Amino acid sequence: MSCIFCKIANKEIPAKIIYEDEHTVAFEDLNPQAPVHVLIIPKKHISTPLDIHTEDNALIGHMYQVANTVAKEKQIDKRGFRTLMNCNKEAGQSVFHIHLHVLGGRVMMWPPG
Ligand code: 5GP
Ligand code: ZN
Repeated sequence: MSCIFCKIANKEIPAKIIYEDEHTVAFEDLNPQAPVHVLIIPKKHISTPLDIHTEDNALIGHMYQVANTVAKEKQIDKRGFRTLMNCNKEAGQSVFHIHLHVLGGRVMMWPPG
């Protein structure tokens, strides 16, 4: 398996992991786009959001719970933060193992670029 985020989940390559449980890992983005930029991944390999199926519903919901935990830990919960998942080329997905971005610590623009 050559997937970089599977390797992070398996501790085969290093990352600044800030949270981990049975089903997910959260770590600091290597190239942060905001003062807080954390990625939450499932330990299960799912390539794109299009590959999320009914059996993954609880897992995806859980990822949002983890995002809340991270936001509270980073003290951006009350100020506000953005969670997002990019899908495929035009959205800018560059790693094909789904990841929930958690961005905060500055005012977020809308619409996004
Ligand atoms: P995407 O563009 O696919 O939505 O987001 C991929 C994110 O993963 C980018 O923000 C990028 O900086 C981050 N990233 C890519 N490779 C690594 C890595 O090896 N380690 C960490 N911590 N982040 C990575
Ligand atoms: Zn993977």
